[in-house]
Amino acid sequence: MAVIGHYIGGKAVTTAGRSSPVFDPSTGAQTGETLLASVATVGEAVAAAAKAFPGWADTPPLSRARIMFKFKALLERDIDALAEAITREHGKTFEDAKGEVTRGIEVVEFACGIPHLLRGDFTEQVARGVDVFSARHPLGVVAGITPFNFPVMVPMWMFPVALACGNAFVLKPSEKDPTPSLMLAELLSEAGLPAGVFNVVQGDKEAVDALLTHPDVAAVSFVGSTAIGEYVYKTAAANGKRAQALCGAKNHLVVMPDADLDKTVDALMGAGYGSAGERCMAVSVAVAVGGVGDALMDKLVPKVRALKVGPGIDRDSEMGPLVTKEHLAKVSGYVDDGVAAGAELVVDGRGLKLQGYENGYFIGGCLFDNVTPDMKIYKEEIFGPVLSVVRVDRYDEALKLVNEHEYGNGAAIFTRDGDAARAFDRDAKAGMIGINVPIPVPVAFHSFGGWKRSVFGDRNVYGMEGVGFYTKMKTTTARWPTGIREGAQFVMPTSG
Ligand code: NAD
Repeated sequence: MAVIGHYIGGKAVTTAGRSSPVFDPSTGAQTGETLLASVATVGEAVAAAAKAFPGWADTPPLSRARIMFKFKALLERDIDALAEAITREHGKTFEDAKGEVTRGIEVVEFACGIPHLLRGDFTEQVARGVDVFSARHPLGVVAGITPFNFPVMVPMWMFPVALACGNAFVLKPSEKDPTPSLMLAELLSEAGLPAGVFNVVQGDKEAVDALLTHPDVAAVSFVGSTAIGEYVYKTAAANGKRAQALCGAKNHLVVMPDADLDKTVDALMGAGYGSAGERCMAVSVAVAVGGVGDALMDKLVPKVRALKVGPGIDRDSEMGPLVTKEHLAKVSGYVDDGVAAGAELVVDGRGLKLQGYENGYFIGGCLFDNVTPDMKIYKEEIFGPVLSVVRVDRYDEALKLVNEHEYGNGAAIFTRDGDAARAFDRDAKAGMIGINVPIPVPVAFHSFGGWKRSVFGDRNVYGMEGVGFYTKMKTTTARWPTGIREGAQFVMPTSG
């Protein structure tokens, strides 16, 4: 069984003490154990990063970027191995895992151009003989705490930008699928990153708390659930750190009566059931406007029934298992709750058993019709392959649903009407809007972040927002006394 440890000061490190089991979600078999860092181990990682920071911060931005270029090439070389490692521990399909790595690589590509973004501002002659210039400086040691659902992409929302800006990084990945984090650390070393600039500590609350309170950690980026994110944000801020926390979601897709229904249904299938719904940008609510509900259901139901559920490593699978047995029980419990609350369960994926994978954490696609906003399945994030259809008469009712929900990560509208699309874009209270696009995850040179209780903090991740988060501004006002340009001097210079 694999023992998955830490990566500190350029070396793989194992520690005695607590550990947590890792499973293959498609078989239910334990494949490894994650070592859980103690306060002391976190201290060693932060110390290694603090030691490496001054040299890395002094390294010219172009030299730092060249390491990112090499890292990108290595990620491309090893994309299949990374995707397989994701699939083995997370459960998502291999092609989906490759897509995740590709979206991470796009952030590395962005980071390759960061020298251009670190270019400062200069104003000449703000007063006679006085100039002002501003430059962005790295923060120091920064930490990333990441969720199970994107074990490669979400860390890569953070560290390529942080490193290219001159920071040293400590990553605390999810203990549920920890292996890819160590592969990333090895690739960074192979790309030429100096030892200690990037470190990984595996762990749980103990490791997170140690990072949140460590005096040498300057900033914390968190992605995960809202309850933990709020705690992380408040604790980091109370300890004087810069913090950003990107959290849970309940993304609505509004289906207008004039939408192209075939395209809408394809979009709902991918966004509702891709990665078994374990995406913070998954669509979990379809709002059918103005009588389009029946036609939508006619096309949607057979597709949900035909969903090919199987082990992620099987190239024919469209949807893999959930991440853990506990999460399967939680998602099934939500479906039970929806039935009890009176929602119409049109497709029931509960209790799915696959031949040869009887102990896997599988659930088929579930589809509810006539869901109402008072139901728990509407209010809470399920994080599973459960799509709720809510029917409303008018566009403004659909908008009200989006805007009154406590989460505001993404929201989408499917329509052929430019006016409706434009109004939705302006009025929907969510951080990322899709117009005939179901999962509007911004590309790497824009930035990712939600609104309302989907986020804590004022900076999004990656793009210019990421550069802003991982740097601090220094502005210098300079005046030089008259010096040697007065003319040539032929007398032996003396200190007087
Ligand atoms: P989680 O909150 O359980 O875990 C996230 C991280 O916090 C992990 O590293 C975990 O080890 C750590 N953690 C867990 N419990 C903790 C505690 N009590 N104290 C301190 N740290 C703790 O989230 P998850 O289940 O791994 O991921 C799913 C969640 O992440 C969903 O809510 C999803 O919407 C969200 N998510 C959000 C985004 C986004 O960008 N908004 C992206 C991906 C996932």
